[in-house]
Amino acid sequence: MASRMDQLLQANSVFAQSWPTPPTMVQMRAVADGALLVLTCMDPRVVPEQFLPNAQFAVFRNAGGRYSSDLVRTIATVRKLMADKPGAKTTVMVVHHTDCGMTHLTNKEIQDDLVTKFPGSAETAKEIDFGCFAEEDLVKTIKEDVEALQAEEILKGVEILGFTLDTVTGILSRV
Ligand SMILES: [Zn+2]
Repeated sequence: MASRMDQLLQANSVFAQSWPTPPTMVQMRAVADGALLVLTCMDPRVVPEQFLPNAQFAVFRNAGGRYSSDLVRTIATVRKLMADKPGAKTTVMVVHHTDCGMTHLTNKEIQDDLVTKFPGSAETAKEIDFGCFAEEDLVKTIKEDVEALQAEEILKGVEILGFTLDTVTGILSRV
């Protein structure tokens, strides 16, 4: 029986047969007049290419769609790549969603689990903020991450907007 990885590679070879070769980065940059980046969760139900059809944007996904230092690096990079012309605008959509896995865990639960399994790394585990939140705090976490990005000096001028995504209806709502 084919392994999981064999199945994935087989599906990829089928996909590649109809993959239209995209423009190069040089070609994309020549026509780019602004950048859009969607920050959202790693959850397989939360796929920006599905809930924002027919649009082109960069995507940054992590656990919960939370603020991180690598996100700041990524936004600064996409701005330089795609919004380098005078007047070109960069917009970031911060999207957190209902029924997020982050609402099914707490920071302490993850930390305690790691401390038990890897006692030698207890200090490291305790220092990580896993960014878990309660379902009722969804709007609050979005505002926190929008404000954290707005406070970044090197992202001055970037438009940061917050949204909830309802995983039952697929509806995106501005916060
Ligand atoms: Zn999630």
